[in-house]
Amino acid sequence: MAGFGKRILYIEDNPENRVLVKRVLEVEGYALALATDAQTGLAEALRHPPDLILMDINLPEVDGYTLTERIKAEPALKHIRVIALTANVMKGDRERTLAAGCDGYIQKPIDVDELPHQIARFLIQPSISEL
Ligand code: MN
Repeated sequence: MAGFGKRILYIEDNPENRVLVKRVLEVEGYALALATDAQTGLAEALRHPPDLILMDINLPEVDGYTLTERIKAEPALKHIRVIALTANVMKGDRERTLAAGCDGYIQKPIDVDELPHQIARFLIQPSISEL
């Protein structure tokens, strides 16, 4: 399985998306950690740094842009790929995720057939900041 041994932290306030993504990625062999807001997401990342972070942008209180900036400011976490997951489709949103330090971008609604391929590519490819 593609995800064997890899741990993903998914920070998402929508319970249906959490259930969906967890199910789809666990089938591929990934271990999923879930957080529902920025504060618990950052705490979980620091407690047990994952191989990849999936970041919902529209989170309550502290949004995904701000949380990504905090993660990228943590010496223990800044090497971890952060992939934004967002339904925002307005012009400039992709640029904003990249400016916040996200290493990639997946547009919602989540395509359950594509998601494992997208995740595998992000784990293999150099991040934008390394190109
Ligand atoms: Mn959300």
